[in-house]
Amino acid sequence: MTDLHARIDAHVRREADALLELSHRIHAHPEVAFQEMQASRWLADALEARGFAVERGVGGLPTAFRATLDGSAAGPTVAILCEYDALPGLGHACGHNVIATVGAGAGFALAPLMHDLPGRLVVLGTPAEEGGGGKVLLLDAGAFEEIDAAIMIHPASVNQAAMPLLASTHWDVTFHGRPAHAAMAPHLGVNALDAVRLAFAGVDALRQQVRPDVRIHGIVTHGGDASNVIPERASMRLVARSADGAYLQGELAPRLERLFEGAALMTGARAEVVPAPIRYREMRFNRPLEAAFARHAERRGRRLLPLDPNTGTGSSDIGNVSQALPSLHGQLAIDDAALPHTAAFAEAARSARGDATVLDGAAVLAGIAAELLTDPARMAEVRAAFEGT
Ligand SMILES: [Zn+2]
Ligand SMILES: [Zn+2]
Repeated sequence: MTDLHARIDAHVRREADALLELSHRIHAHPEVAFQEMQASRWLADALEARGFAVERGVGGLPTAFRATLDGSAAGPTVAILCEYDALPGLGHACGHNVIATVGAGAGFALAPLMHDLPGRLVVLGTPAEEGGGGKVLLLDAGAFEEIDAAIMIHPASVNQAAMPLLASTHWDVTFHGRPAHAAMAPHLGVNALDAVRLAFAGVDALRQQVRPDVRIHGIVTHGGDASNVIPERASMRLVARSADGAYLQGELAPRLERLFEGAALMTGARAEVVPAPIRYREMRFNRPLEAAFARHAERRGRRLLPLDPNTGTGSSDIGNVSQALPSLHGQLAIDDAALPHTAAFAEAARSARGDATVLDGAAVLAGIAAELLTDPARMAEVRAAFEGT
């Protein structure tokens, strides 16, 4: 195994220039969800050039790809996941150029070794993590069938073996009222903006009666057209999250939906409620995969922080994947302070530390994949942990 890790590290070193050039190129050409034409092509081309069989447009998504390399004998299938979408207006402020090249780099490092290893290696290009739910669409299209474990790394401000991602859903609510002159005849109007205000007031009253892990947040997306006209139409988007997806969908969601109806009832407006087409699930942890991440990250000189269930966190479509098969979403630091979705984080994603993380991450994921492919006991442990949670 030590020899295998030394070979992985050597291959990562040999590919370092190509990987960092690719990371910087993706960073310099940010493409938002579902429009990652260049990034997906660059990654798929680079994997193809190293011997992978590449299928583009997987699951009907033009910017998804699957690069496959078979080993020398039958064995498990391990998938390494790439993300490469940017944020509108903020560029690569979530550091997905790092995720993309960590995943590709793990593929580069294992490509020359696969003729010695059993099983199958897949590098899966998953578009539109930022709100588009690319992995959910790929799951529905069957792209994760026959995959025994899915592993990926997200850049962060800490080194940590997992991220406690929340289940998340949202609603677009439009209230329809009746317009009237706001001074001459307000009694003839039905104020749709009042319904929005009362819905938010109801949300605030509800906060005390929900579990502590719940997050509810939203914006007014339309507040009327003129201040001297009773608003005929007003709309809002509300997001709700919880660490417990069953609680979110089973208890919280119906209460919020009743609250929208209540605001309509109070004002006489009509509520048009459009639920989110895609719901993000909470992360299902896999301790053996996290232990493997810790071993390989420490081997690369990373000091890991223990998981703190109270740290603030977001949601991601890897949560849905983790409910379907054993999954890992490890974190490697590219900065000590900057948080995702900020300009400082975008800067860190192409800094010297960001670059070091690309190489560490590639070696870590390649090491975990090699372990899962070659050690049936480890793979069995990962499967058992998934079934036991
Ligand atoms: Zn993000
Ligand atoms: Zn992200």
